[in-house]
Amino acid sequence: QAKRAGRGVYRFYTESLTTAAQSRLALDTRLRRALENKEFVLWYQPLYRLADRCLIGLEALVRLNQPGLPPIGPAEFIPLLEETGQITTLGAWVTQEACRQGRAWLDEGLDFGRIAINLSPQEIRRGQTDERVREALERSGLPAERLELELTESGLMEQGERAEAFLHRLRALGVRLAIDDFGTGYSSLAYLKRFPVSKLKIDRSFVRDLPADANDAQLVQTMVSMGRNLGISVLAEGVETEAQFDYLRSLGCDAAQGYFFSPPRPADEARHWLRPLAAAQATPVQAEPP
Ligand code: C2E
Ligand code: MG
Ligand code: MG
Ligand code: MG
Repeated sequence: QAKRAGRGVYRFYTESLTTAAQSRLALDTRLRRALENKEFVLWYQPLYRLADRCLIGLEALVRLNQPGLPPIGPAEFIPLLEETGQITTLGAWVTQEACRQGRAWLDEGLDFGRIAINLSPQEIRRGQTDERVREALERSGLPAERLELELTESGLMEQGERAEAFLHRLRALGVRLAIDDFGTGYSSLAYLKRFPVSKLKIDRSFVRDLPADANDAQLVQTMVSMGRNLGISVLAEGVETEAQFDYLRSLGCDAAQGYFFSPPRPADEARHWLRPLAAAQATPVQAEPP
């Protein structure tokens, strides 16, 4: 009896492993093809200042929506691209496409504030990322201060000393730097003094149960006042309700993004959020000295 049950369990286990390996292979094949044929698209989610609900930026989030195939999100494919080292190929495309789109909007007289893109920790480790960003800016003609790069706190910690030098090289280009998923990195906070970052993005796990959860409320308050003391702006991710919005604004949190405002949308829909470019801004402003 026990033996039979044991064998059954074993067979189930190997079968599910095989299925997992097969679907991984299928995904890998699909991703390689999508990279080759440039079938990825960027969707955009708006970032708002809480004080006046003014649009301050757009976060570009990559999507794979191929005709006839089920759409897949980055949470599913980014880890695989990181494993196979292809994330740098995707990263290069994302950087160019975001810069191109930003420049195109400016040329239409539309103001989006800044465009933020996400960098993978692998893009810190492999060189050339800063060179690639410089090239994308130059080729597109997007002013550097219109671009923001998001790096996760855990990704930065993983890269140790290398991260600091990397961030300084990027900052020297005139782009802004933001720490993504802030609060989840189990790090010493000492790095905040050394890293040239302008924004902390509070991870949505701290926002979800606001304002009711007293622990989360305390943590978010601490992050907001820490940002204020360090002169770094603080944005809350994952704001879904008016109660969260009101609470964060009452704390003096600078900005927010989330489904309460809008989920990520394709570029032609994101267009409707943009304001006319003020005459003073129509010509590229000089980047502030790093
Ligand atoms: P992230 O950078 O922290 O992006 C925020 C994620 O939260 C996005 O998921 C967004 O759709 C989702 N989100 C926004 N507002 C809400 C909300 O109110 N509630 C909830 N539940 N979720 C919300 P998405 O687009 O699936 O992206 C997941 C992650 O994949 C991103 O997290 C980022 O780490 C990564 N990613 C996305 N695009 C890129 C990319 O171009 N390059 C790299 N390296 N990573 C990317
Ligand atoms: Mg992000
Ligand atoms: Mg995040
Ligand atoms: Mg995240």
